[in-house]
Amino acid sequence: MSKESKNSTLVHAGRSKNRTFGIVNPPVFHASTVVFDTLDEMKRAGAAQHEIMSYGRRGTPTSFALCEALTELSDGAGTVLYGSGLAAVTHAILAFVATGDHVLIPDAVYEPTRQFADEILSKFGVAVTYYDPLIGSGIAALIRPETKVVFVESPGSITMEVQDVPAIADAAHKAGAVVILDNTWATPLLFDAFAHGVDVSVLSLTKYMVGHADALLGSATANAATIDRLRKGGGLLGTNAAPDDVYLALRGMRTLAVRMKQHQAAALEIAHWLDARPEVDHLRHPAFPSCPGHDIWKRDFSGSSGLFSFVLKDGNPARVKAFLEGMTYFKMGFSWGGYESLALAYGAVTKIRTASHWDGATVIRLHIGLEEPQDLIADLEAAFGRYHAV
Ligand SMILES: *Cc1c(COP(=O)(O)O)cnc(C)c1O
Repeated sequence: MSKESKNSTLVHAGRSKNRTFGIVNPPVFHASTVVFDTLDEMKRAGAAQHEIMSYGRRGTPTSFALCEALTELSDGAGTVLYGSGLAAVTHAILAFVATGDHVLIPDAVYEPTRQFADEILSKFGVAVTYYDPLIGSGIAALIRPETKVVFVESPGSITMEVQDVPAIADAAHKAGAVVILDNTWATPLLFDAFAHGVDVSVLSLTKYMVGHADALLGSATANAATIDRLRKGGGLLGTNAAPDDVYLALRGMRTLAVRMKQHQAAALEIAHWLDARPEVDHLRHPAFPSCPGHDIWKRDFSGSSGLFSFVLKDGNPARVKAFLEGMTYFKMGFSWGGYESLALAYGAVTKIRTASHWDGATVIRLHIGLEEPQDLIADLEAAFGRYHAV
């Protein structure tokens, strides 16, 4: 039998009848205390905390359903849920480091991950080195005996460099370090983390999985070698995922494949239009040769999502302001992955890069939502009109 398509997994995973009673959607269980009648029953629940209810914080049938579905979707060994994508990133890192250890983080990492490393890891005596996201196997030179985690995020935030994850993972594993990936941009649909050497794959479910901009949630899915350490880390830090938000992620998951197809197609159409605009210096869309790491994207990914950037030739702040203000569809906002289109300008990328070169040019990052692409193009055309009127 051929391997099941991930699109089908999205539809049926986590819907085991002994949790749903046959209802199509896994029900929402609100729980703190779970009561037992016998000591034996209590002991059994305590020994299988990830499958049997023992206490609300350790999971409910609702969260077990989402964990099971995410694990199946990524071919992992188990999944832990967190109250946000950032919590998933930070808890996953904390599960594998102690005072005196060293962590490698790509220069184009999501900015709050960087702030966590600078302000929290440093407080506990964990050293951090930022590396050029395009370093590839060259990462070996930065790995020290005390390097415990090599973090990857591909493509990188804002500047969208695609990383050679297999080469980086290879070097990390030779030194006994754990590879943690922030796979939020691609989701398990477009990048198979474990087949490319990743040990722990983190998602901000807030983005494409929830897909409707109405819940914050994160997950980390681990392979067999790391799942126990990951679970222990999360469990003892008291992390919890709220049942209604877990339900929204389960519901969003069912339509992820069709939404992603539309995000991808619309983003490509708009990116092609932007590529021909005189104001655009170059695109930072992994499917375009102008994006650093494009060849690696072609080798390792099975598609692209709705988030990409482009670099302006002239980033005059007054012009950028005129471009962004007055949009019909593209609104300014930090999260993405919902059905709505977003645009943001980054004029100060240089300030958050310490290990790779950025020439100071202004980047516009777009998230292409589910509006009709031609309407979005008209919106951008009008934006360039305002830009030139300054
Ligand atoms: C948004 C985002 C996060 C954080 O997710 P939240 O759910 O908002 O905490 C982490 N990583 C990446 C790449 C993101 O874009």
